[in-house]
Amino acid sequence: MQDPTSQSTAEQRIWTILAEIDDPEMPISIVDLGIIERVEVSGGKARIFVTPTFTGCPALQMIDEQIVQSVGALPEVHAVEIEHIFDPPWRADRITPAGRERLRAHGVTVPGSKFVQLNRARDEAVACPFCNSQDTRLDSPFGPTRCRMIYYCTACRNSFEHIKAI
Ligand SMILES: [Zn+2]
Repeated sequence: MQDPTSQSTAEQRIWTILAEIDDPEMPISIVDLGIIERVEVSGGKARIFVTPTFTGCPALQMIDEQIVQSVGALPEVHAVEIEHIFDPPWRADRITPAGRERLRAHGVTVPGSKFVQLNRARDEAVACPFCNSQDTRLDSPFGPTRCRMIYYCTACRNSFEHIKAI
């Protein structure tokens, strides 16, 4: 991702605005989600390079519209262009630590967290975000969106969501 020290003031302002846009389906900003690859501003035209989490995720169009609206409101920006890039692909490890913490507080776990790594021997073992028990099982590979799966915790009998690794 972009080196913050090499950015112009306009680019920094755009990053700040992007950090305030939440994913429409999850309690996390699109910057914390790691889908903003790069921001460029030249001659009043802003170009935002977005790495979609999952191809065909319907949230993507909503995110694009929100970006155009919010970034386009900056006085120094006259046009906003969004480019979707798929190489390198988005991976769950692009989610920032702050983003992971916010998701966990809302009962959504992320692959690659310390709890998941602890239990690597068991495939798909995911610690419960509510009670930390590893006595969990995959309830449905089809969550509310294509990006998430539903898990069930046998210990505290809560269901929670887990973001697919890809
Ligand atoms: Zn639990």
